[in-house]
Amino acid sequence: MTDLIEFAKALISRESITPDDKGCQKLIIKELSEANFNFKKINSTGVDNLFAWHGVGNPFFIFAGHTDVVPPGPLEAWHTDPFQPVEKNGFLYGRGAADMKAADCAMVLSAKEFVLKNPNHKGMIGLVFTSDEEGLATDGTIKVVEYLKQENKIPDYVVVGEASSKEKVGDAIKIGRRGSMHGELTIIGKQGHIAYPQKADNPIHRCFKALDALAQEKWDQGDEHFPPTSFQFFELQSGAGAANVIPGTLTAKFNFRFSPMSTPDSLHNKIADILSKYDLRYKINYHVSSEPFFSGECDLSQIAIKAIQGVCGIHPELNTEGGTSDGRFFAALGCEVIEIGVVNKTIHKVNECVNIKELKQLNDIYQCILKNIF
Ligand SMILES: [Zn+2]
Repeated sequence: MTDLIEFAKALISRESITPDDKGCQKLIIKELSEANFNFKKINSTGVDNLFAWHGVGNPFFIFAGHTDVVPPGPLEAWHTDPFQPVEKNGFLYGRGAADMKAADCAMVLSAKEFVLKNPNHKGMIGLVFTSDEEGLATDGTIKVVEYLKQENKIPDYVVVGEASSKEKVGDAIKIGRRGSMHGELTIIGKQGHIAYPQKADNPIHRCFKALDALAQEKWDQGDEHFPPTSFQFFELQSGAGAANVIPGTLTAKFNFRFSPMSTPDSLHNKIADILSKYDLRYKINYHVSSEPFFSGECDLSQIAIKAIQGVCGIHPELNTEGGTSDGRFFAALGCEVIEIGVVNKTIHKVNECVNIKELKQLNDIYQCILKNIF
C-alpha cells in the first residue's frame, strides 16, 4: 500500500499554482487505477478536472478536492522551500500541505483501500479533483458537475476535504457555506470647477449619509447555523484628476456574505429602499459569485460525527464559517454536502503545514465514513 506521507510529499513537490495541475492528477490516476477505478478527464480552458469512479448505482458517494494551490508568497519568509516538502517536529511543511493536497491523498488512499478490500461493494464511489478551486472556479468543479448531470449520475453524498478543523483534526466540520454577492454603486453628480460649487453637483458630498446607512444596516439575524449576513465596502473611487475639479461620479464597491435568510433579490430590494431615502441619482450592478448551501444535520453529517467520535474521541462543532467552497456546486444537485479536513490555521500562509499524526487520523475518518455508507 502506498504510504500516505510519501504520497502527500509527491503532490506537494509539484508547483501546481492555480490553475496549473502540474501532473498531480496523473499521480492520483496511477493510485486509483491499481484498484480498477474508471476515469473521465474533463479539461476546460487550461484547467484539469478528473472524475474517477468505481461501481454502479446508489448510494453514490463522492470525495471532492483540488490539486491547485495559491502562490507561495514571499519566499524569504518560508523556513523551507514551499515546493520541497519537509517533515519537522511532527509536521509536514509545504505549499498545499493543509489546503489541500494532504487531504487529497487521504481521500484517494481511503477510497483505494476500501475498493481493494471490498471490490464488490454496492453503489458507486467517486472522486472529483479540479485545478481551478483557488482561481476563478469557472472551469473547475462546475464542469464536472455539469458532466455528472448529463450522465444522470447524481450523488447522494459528497465529502469535500477542505481544511475545516480549527485546533485539531475533527473538531469542526462544515455543513454549509454562506453565499457571496458583489455590487458596484455609482453615484452620479455633475462635474464642475471647485470654486463654483453651485454650478456642480458633488457626488462625494452626496455619498456619506447613504453609504453610512448601508454600512450600518442589519440585513438579517442569521440563525443557529449561520452568522448574520455581512456587508463590507472594499473600494471607493472618485476624483477628476485635478485639485480644482469637483468630480462627476463616485463609485463604491461592496460585498455581501449572505446566509440563506437573505436572497440576492431581498438584498437588492433592501438596498433600493435605503438609497431611496437619500436624494441620489445612481446606477447599481450586482454579481452573485456564489449561492449559499446548507446540508444541516443530515445523514451524512451524522455518519461523519460518528466517524470522528470513533477515531478522535471528540464531538465536532458543526458550522458554516469561512469563505465559499466548491461544495456549492455539488449542493446545487440536491445532495448532502459536508466538509471535513485538517486544521486550517496555516492555509494560504507562509510555512503552511499539516500535523502528520492528524493526517493519519483524517485518513481513518474517511475510511470510517466509507464503511458506514457502503
Ligand atoms: Zn482549498
